[in-house]
Amino acid sequence: MRPTTGWQADSATRTLLREALERRDLRPDDIAVRIEYCGVCHTDLHALQAHESDANGVLVPGHEFTGVVTEVGSAVLDFSPGDPVAVGNLVDSCGMCRMCQAGQENFCREFPTLTYGGADRRDGSTTLGGYSREYIVTNRFAYHLPAGLDAAAAAPLLCAGVTVWEPLQALGVGPDSTVAVAGLGGLGHLAVKMATGLGATTSVISRTLDKADEARDLGAQGFVVSTDPKQMEAVRDQFDVVIDTISAPHDLAPYLRMVAMDGTLSHLGHLGPVTVETLDLLIGRKKLSSAGSGGRPSTAAMLHFCAEHGITADIELLPSSEVNRALERLARNDVRYRFVLDMSDLD
Ligand SMILES: [Zn+2]
Ligand SMILES: [Zn+2]
Repeated sequence: MRPTTGWQADSATRTLLREALERRDLRPDDIAVRIEYCGVCHTDLHALQAHESDANGVLVPGHEFTGVVTEVGSAVLDFSPGDPVAVGNLVDSCGMCRMCQAGQENFCREFPTLTYGGADRRDGSTTLGGYSREYIVTNRFAYHLPAGLDAAAAAPLLCAGVTVWEPLQALGVGPDSTVAVAGLGGLGHLAVKMATGLGATTSVISRTLDKADEARDLGAQGFVVSTDPKQMEAVRDQFDVVIDTISAPHDLAPYLRMVAMDGTLSHLGHLGPVTVETLDLLIGRKKLSSAGSGGRPSTAAMLHFCAEHGITADIELLPSSEVNRALERLARNDVRYRFVLDMSDLD
């Protein structure tokens, strides 16, 4: 085994503590990544909350990171030591099912192996995430980080970025599209940048006027205050695609009503059971959809697109020793728009 260092959850104190960790020795198809930057995702918060009731499990969060290849397995041809790379929230899948064959490993029938809290497909060990100095990953689930992308600001592209990229692509968003993005956080701000980069006319839907200036700076042309019935009525049947990034339980009806005929409301992440008045779908032949994470081909395509269009996340970079403060602020939504941890203090 290979020794490394990382931030491991302590269920007694509800905090992450700096601990010595072990990584597996390289398999023929593995690469070793020295992690430089890791984004802080809402999923990390949820995992920590869930961990409190599972004191026996080992939890090291972190599933959107960039770094440098330090070593490659004997069968690896597409990576070399020194290559800048990126890894997201999936590190393996069955590779055989219909979803994997379609390049949608995120929907793998056997459930993809998550970057942390998953079970390694070969030895059954629990995967430990990117809040650490080193990660060993099969080369299939690492991506070359294109030149020109800032390695710190690119880290959130690997989870938040691909999560918004997949529905924009699947729904055919382009220069003739009108897109609305509900919620301007980690996901939403990247949705605005990507939709705008794809040439779409983009609006932001937010509860108050507070973020109107930021929305404009990100490239949005329109801004709709969701608590103002007049403004909501004015955008009825207007948007080809509505990307809903709101994670708290909420009524989908107001967002369905702003979808144009034959358009789609796509909710990102897991909302749980919802009630939908099907008349809101019938009138205008509207579609309700959901998306999360991304497959290997679209992750690579998304990174290429972002490099071409100069798109990265707006981040607040902190030394990894500040991880507990970052999580505590994220829980209060006190971040514009993503925390990224600098792992160099783990040496
Ligand atoms: Zn995530
Ligand atoms: Zn599969």
